[in-house]
Amino acid sequence: MLCLVDRPLPYYDVRRRPVALIVLHSMSFHTLQESWNAFDADKVSSHYLIDRDGTVYRLVGEEKRAYHAGISNWRGMVSGLKPSLNDCSIGIEFQRLPLPHAQITQKQVKAGIELCAQLMRKYKLKAHQVVGHADVAPNRKDDPVNFPWRTFGKAGIGIWTDKAAPRAVLSNKTASELLESIGYPVQFGIDASLIAFKRHYMPNARPDASVMQKVMNRLACVLEAHQKVAKRSRRK
Ligand SMILES: [Zn+2]
Repeated sequence: MLCLVDRPLPYYDVRRRPVALIVLHSMSFHTLQESWNAFDADKVSSHYLIDRDGTVYRLVGEEKRAYHAGISNWRGMVSGLKPSLNDCSIGIEFQRLPLPHAQITQKQVKAGIELCAQLMRKYKLKAHQVVGHADVAPNRKDDPVNFPWRTFGKAGIGIWTDKAAPRAVLSNKTASELLESIGYPVQFGIDASLIAFKRHYMPNARPDASVMQKVMNRLACVLEAHQKVAKRSRRK
């Protein structure tokens, strides 16, 4: 059971498109009060914030558009000079300590998985429709920081694969093509998307001479995992 507390923020407007994506974030502060201050200072919001003790704060109603993603894109879902996923997504913040190695707590993991699972059932979303802020805004953002993507992925939330060697050799594909096929926006620059991909899917990779081949293999594996889920959800 989620411990849900209403803590409304006034920063929202009308949602004009159905929910098709969940965007996960993190805020790095010592106290919750600092997070509330940060929302107020920038007049931004998310739909939910999960505190380190697992309490889920509801900040903006899901039917409203919260201001969490900013300029962003995923799978070309939005267009325009300043595309933003705010219209079609739900934003969830994880409160974390501002220390370099601070982790999301086990209580947050439990609450986050439960909240995401509930929302995915409600809006009929599949695993590939849960992403991180850095995935959709790679040129501007690096959150959620130190996020347990593998744990969430194993729970069916977000795409995950442990494979390092792809089934088929995709030697004719460039990194840019693989990134775009997974969903990464390439309009903000390939390098930024590549960094976001590595942060999400290869957090322990060391930058050695073979790293680009490893990245290419990992890109192909993640794309295979994406396509498997996307194909399954199209059939339904
Ligand atoms: Zn964020």
